[in-house]
Amino acid sequence: MTAHRRMKWGLVFLTALLGLLALRLIWIQGVMSGRTVPGGEYPLAKMAEVQSEREIVLDTGRGRLFDQSGFPLAGETIWTAVLLPPEAAAGPRVSAKTEHGANAAALRRLAALLGTDAERLKKALREVRQPYAWPSPKVEEPLALTFQQADEISRLGVGGVVVLPYSRRYGGEMNGRQWIGYVSESVASGNAAKGPDGSLPIRSIRSIRSDLRRPMEGTAGLEKTLEPLLRGIGHTEVVARVDAEGKRLPGSGLTVRTPRNPYYPLSFYTTVDMRLQEGIEKLARQDGIKEGAVVVLHAQTGDIAAMVSLPLYNPEDISPEGGEWNNRALQAAVPGSIFKLVTAAAALEAGVASPGEVFHCSGEYGRYGLSCPKEGGHGIITLEQGFAKSCNTVFAALAERLSDAQLEAAASALGLGRPVGWRQADTLGLPLLAPLAAEQAGTVFAPSHANDPGARVQTAIGQRDAAVTPLQAANMVAALLRGGEPPAPRILRRVDFANGQNLAVLQPHAAPSPVGRISPGTASLLLQWMRTVVTDGTGRQLRGANWELAGKSGTAQTQVKGAARNNQWFVGYGPYEQPLYTAAVLVQNRAPGSPHAAVKLFGEVMDLLAETEKSENTRMPSDTAKG
Ligand SMILES: [Zn+2]
Repeated sequence: MTAHRRMKWGLVFLTALLGLLALRLIWIQGVMSGRTVPGGEYPLAKMAEVQSEREIVLDTGRGRLFDQSGFPLAGETIWTAVLLPPEAAAGPRVSAKTEHGANAAALRRLAALLGTDAERLKKALREVRQPYAWPSPKVEEPLALTFQQADEISRLGVGGVVVLPYSRRYGGEMNGRQWIGYVSESVASGNAAKGPDGSLPIRSIRSIRSDLRRPMEGTAGLEKTLEPLLRGIGHTEVVARVDAEGKRLPGSGLTVRTPRNPYYPLSFYTTVDMRLQEGIEKLARQDGIKEGAVVVLHAQTGDIAAMVSLPLYNPEDISPEGGEWNNRALQAAVPGSIFKLVTAAAALEAGVASPGEVFHCSGEYGRYGLSCPKEGGHGIITLEQGFAKSCNTVFAALAERLSDAQLEAAASALGLGRPVGWRQADTLGLPLLAPLAAEQAGTVFAPSHANDPGARVQTAIGQRDAAVTPLQAANMVAALLRGGEPPAPRILRRVDFANGQNLAVLQPHAAPSPVGRISPGTASLLLQWMRTVVTDGTGRQLRGANWELAGKSGTAQTQVKGAARNNQWFVGYGPYEQPLYTAAVLVQNRAPGSPHAAVKLFGEVMDLLAETEKSENTRMPSDTAKG
């Protein structure tokens, strides 16, 4: 963790350095003069006739996204090696550093640094017509150089190769950060393909990356919801001057063109902690989870610490049909027994059941085709035990004492059946700033429901029309921890100008329901019951975790292509005594009867959080602490 930390701060430092000094560094390198003074054998008059320009865009000018501590998420500045068109013969004053004069050892060393051999590099240098960044062999992106490599390449001084700062949008690797989204060619350009639903302009970013001058716009995630703010005021490019044959004019240097504005592009700081985000992506991969989502929230603020969606996606290579770019953390899924939190809340608030009340479960409910998953039934069971062991009979009985309206009200009070993501009107020049605008509202009952008792009973155990997003599920637990007040999960916390000056701090706020809230007493009771789930219920396998944990499991029946499948859920919080985080884990499309992957992953996520907290007990969690 220490090494990671050091590396991260190294990157932060490098990014800051680049951001402030990038253009000045180009001068300092001495590779180019930054001016366009003609030299050599070309008379000025002739220059004017023959010269034309060949440019490379180094930065589209689009705003940048960072994690909570400044780790770059989108728009990271890297060092890269740019190949320039070969110089035209310059008569007697041949520089020792032209491609012809480059000494063989330097060329070999440069080739090695670029991951190629001297012959290929020489050929590439001969054939350049348009300046381009040397590509990475692994991902379709310019090769990212370390500071040492960049420095060494500059010192080698091989003609036709310069080290320049380059702003890459993403790293080009598979990840679970669908909330970042992706950019694609602007519809306004007329070149964008339409998505499968006819509305989304989707075009593989792979096909447009080669030309950063084309207009692009955010098509999903924060790239889309923040589009009006991310849009830059023009790109930064480096220009070489060439003669009629496309050869670089000797001594003509390179020119940097950049919008002269200290304020743009803007920098967006999210609430996400990249160490957690990456750690959870890794855990999900290790567990072999193909579909689902994990959401981790700070318990008191509702700030999103991590949000992982599976399958993973590559923001550089989006396929319109794949759908892997959908953020499943924001999509509603059948909740199964985690919805019993809502039913229990409704029953306690309505006073139709008391915690110690005793029920009898024979395994078959006897109506609506409903049964309890425990074969032979739970026998004599209290309400609290019924919650801990997830007894369907107990919750069906509760549902029969409630109205649809009471269930709907409890759901809404806990932030279900409605969008809960942080949003604010009249902010940053937008009528509504809603970073998580793509979130689904979810449902309790279908719009056409008619107070049907069978439907109510099915809904009370989280089946039928009930649908909840993983974000809502994690937020529901945060609502309980806040005594019944749901926070509005926040992902964006501050926006800075390019020069580092602060533009806005976006304060956390609550997401109260228009129909009211549940009482602190009910919230506190449910939190205790969630502890019983772990000590003596369906979450017993979490007893050995680093923290004492509490939560609720769910196994929902769904259909995938006509076949019976399960959604596995676990929602909860930790540590039990002093809760710091809530989390929701959803694993989708599992074969009925397979081991509960969501309980396992929840335990692993909480262990990761415990380790992170331990290694960093000096961190400052809120904006107020950071001033
Ligand atoms: Zn039962």
